[in-house]
Amino acid sequence: MLIMGGINLSTPLSLVRGVGPRFVQKFKKLGIETVRDIVFHFPTRYEDFSRITKITDLAPHEECTINGIVEEIKMRRAWHRKMFITEAIINDGSDSIRAVWFNQTYIKNTLHEGVNANFSGKVSQSKDGEIYFSNPTYEIQREWQKETKHTARIVPIYPETKGLTSKGIRYIIQPLLSQIKFPNEIIPTNILEKEHLKEIQSAIKTVHFPDTINEAIEAKRRFAFQELFLLQIHFLLEKERSEKESAHQIETSIDFIKKMISKLPFELTVSQKKSLWEIVQDLNKTKPMNRLLQGDVGSGKTIIAALSAMLVAEKGFQTAIMAPTEILAMQHFKTIKNFFHNNEKGIALVTSNDARVFYGNGLEADIPKKNLLAEIKNGNIKTIVGTHSLIQKSVSFKSLALVVVDEQHRFGVAQRDVLIRTKNKKPHFLSMSATPIPRTLNLILFGNLDVSLISELPKNRKQIITKVVQPDKRNDAYKFIRNEVLKGRQVFVVCPRIEPGEDKEYLTQEEKQKLEVKSVKEEFDKLSKKIFPDLRVQMLHGKMPQKQKNNEITKTQVMKDFSEGKIDILVSTSVIEVGVDVPNATIMMIEGSERFGLAQLYQFRGRIGRGIHQSYCLLFTESKNKETEMRLLSVAKAKNGYELAELDLKLRGPGQFLGTEQTGIPDTAMIALQNPELVSRARKYAEDIIRTDKELKNYPLLKKELSQFTLQIHKE
Ligand code: ADP
Ligand code: MG
Repeated sequence: MLIMGGINLSTPLSLVRGVGPRFVQKFKKLGIETVRDIVFHFPTRYEDFSRITKITDLAPHEECTINGIVEEIKMRRAWHRKMFITEAIINDGSDSIRAVWFNQTYIKNTLHEGVNANFSGKVSQSKDGEIYFSNPTYEIQREWQKETKHTARIVPIYPETKGLTSKGIRYIIQPLLSQIKFPNEIIPTNILEKEHLKEIQSAIKTVHFPDTINEAIEAKRRFAFQELFLLQIHFLLEKERSEKESAHQIETSIDFIKKMISKLPFELTVSQKKSLWEIVQDLNKTKPMNRLLQGDVGSGKTIIAALSAMLVAEKGFQTAIMAPTEILAMQHFKTIKNFFHNNEKGIALVTSNDARVFYGNGLEADIPKKNLLAEIKNGNIKTIVGTHSLIQKSVSFKSLALVVVDEQHRFGVAQRDVLIRTKNKKPHFLSMSATPIPRTLNLILFGNLDVSLISELPKNRKQIITKVVQPDKRNDAYKFIRNEVLKGRQVFVVCPRIEPGEDKEYLTQEEKQKLEVKSVKEEFDKLSKKIFPDLRVQMLHGKMPQKQKNNEITKTQVMKDFSEGKIDILVSTSVIEVGVDVPNATIMMIEGSERFGLAQLYQFRGRIGRGIHQSYCLLFTESKNKETEMRLLSVAKAKNGYELAELDLKLRGPGQFLGTEQTGIPDTAMIALQNPELVSRARKYAEDIIRTDKELKNYPLLKKELSQFTLQIHKE
C-alpha cells in the first residue's frame, strides 16, 4: 500500500511501500511491526564489499565486488536432487567469470542478458582450479540510482529469519532512512560530549549504512551506551521505589536460627552461613529484600531458601517457592519436608498436576487442589512450593512475606509483582541462580539486586575424575561406560552445542531448536543402535511435550524414569533440567566439549558426584590440540563456576562467551562485556541524574524513552 503523508516512527510496516503482507508476517517473526522497530533492528555484523576488483585480478577465497555485464544466464535442474541451479556469465572487459546460485529461481526474472550489475561475495575455486562466484549478492546498476545497498560498499548483515534475508531487510530499510523523521536525542548533551558519542540521528544512519567499519563501531558504541544508561536509570529508580515500599518485618532470634541449623544432617559451609545471615538481616527490615543468591549447581542453595522459609513460618507468615519445572518443584518439596520433618506449619506442593500437603506429624496427603488452595488462603499452610502455576489467579495467600524464585535469574521482580497484586505490603524477594555469570556482569544484569554468593561446594563432596577423551580413545571410553552401567550406575550424555554455519550467522530460536533436536536424535541413534544396543538408552529434548498427548512420552516422564533408575543412559541437549539431582548417575559424557564454555562444562559436571559412588566426567573432543586439552582440564581444578566464567571471558573473549540463549544474558550485556568501564560510567551518569532529578523533569525525552524501555523489560 502506498502512503501519501509522511512516514513516522509509529507507522505500521504494512503501510510502507514495498512491504507486502507476506513480508509483514516475516518481519513479525523478528519482532518487527513498525517503522521504529525496523529502524532499530541493527546489523549483527558487516561485510566489506567496498573494493571493486577487476575479474582478471580475482583470487580465490577473497571477498570482493565486481561490476560487469551479464553475458548469459540460464537455469537448470540438478540431476541428482530436487534443486534448481541458476548460472550466469559476467564480463567486465578484463575477463569473464561464472556465477552460480542454488534454489533462487527468481533470479532469472530480474537478471537478464545485457544488464549491468554489481556482484559481491566470496570467490570460490572448484577442484579443477576454476574460479567462480557461489551465491553472490547482486545489484543491478541503473543511471538514476546513486547509492548501492547490497554491493560495492560496507554491507550490513542483519538477524534474519526464514524467507527474509539481509538483502530483503536492506531493500526496505534503505529508502526508509531517507524518508523518516528521526527520533530526537535522548542522551543529555554533556554526556554525549564527555563520552564522545555520536548523536542519535547520524548514529542510526551509519549503523545501517556506514562508510567505514570504524564508523559502524562508533555508532554501535553509542547505542550500547544508551541501553546501559537506560538500564541503570531503570535499576536505580526501581531501587528508589522499593526503598519506599513496606514489607513484613521478620524478627528472628539467633537462638531459633541456631536451633534450626543444628537439626540439619550436615554443617553449613562458610558461604552458606554468610548468605543466610545476609538474608536474615534483610528480612528483619521493613522494606522488601531484593536479593539474588548465586551458587553453583550442588552448592546448597535450596537449604538456604528452606531455612529462610522456616524463619518466616515461625513468625506466622507465608513463603512461596517457585521452581521452573514440575520435577524441580517436586524435588524441592521432598528436600524441604525431609529436612524439617517436625514442621507443624504445613508444607504444600502446588503444580498443575499435583496438590499435596505435608504436616509435621509425618502425614502427607494428596488433597483436592481446591481444599489446598483454601488452606493457603486462610493462612494455615506456611510454606508453598510450586511451579509458575503459583502465579495464577486461583492461588491467593493470607500473609505472603517471602517469595523465592529458583533458576530464573533475569528480572524476576516482575514475577514477584504478579504474586502480590492486591497487597499493600510487598513480600521479600529472593532469586536463586546457578548460571555462572562473571562478577563483572552482576552490575549490568542485576543492578537492582543485592547479591549473595555461595562460593564453595559442601566439603563432603566426592572428587570427580575428569578426563579428556580424544578420538583414538573413544572405544575405550565406551567400554568403560558399559562397565559402569553393568555395575548399576547411570550416565548423562550431553550433545554438542549447535554452532551456526558460516552462511547462517544468525538462527532463530526455532531453527536452533530444530538443529538441537536433530543432534540429540543422531547421538541417540548412534548410542542406542550401534554402541549400546543392549542398554536402556533414552533421549530428552526441548521438542518433547511437557504435557501428555498422543501417547508421546513427556519430559517429566523421562526425568522420572531416569531418577528411578529405569534408564541407563540419558542423551540430552545442553539446556534441559539444570537442577535435577540423581545420585546414582556417575558419568557425565559431553560430546564436542570444546564447543562449550568452561563454566558451562563445570555446570554439567555438577550433576554427578552427588552419591556414594566414584563419578567421572568424560570430555569428548575431536581436537588433539594440547592447549584445548589444558583448557578443558581447568574445569577439574576450578573452585567454582563463577571463577571459570571470568576465565572463559578472558580466554575466549566476549564473542565466544556462552551462547546468549543458554545463559539468558541479553545483548546489551554482551556488548558491555567488551567494555566494562562503559558500564560503570553509565552507572555514574545515571546516579548523577537520579540524585538531582528523580522525576526526570528536566529530561522529558529520556523519560519517555525510559517508559518504553521498562515496558519492554517487563514483557520479556
Ligand atoms: P543447588 O545449589 O544446586 O540448588 P542443592 O540445594 O540441590 O544445590 O544441594 C545439593 C545437595 O547438597 C543436596 O542434596 C543438599 O542436601 C546437599 N547439601 C547442601 N548443603 C550442604 C552442606 N553444607 N553439606 C553437605 N551437603 C549439603
Ligand atoms: Mg537448585
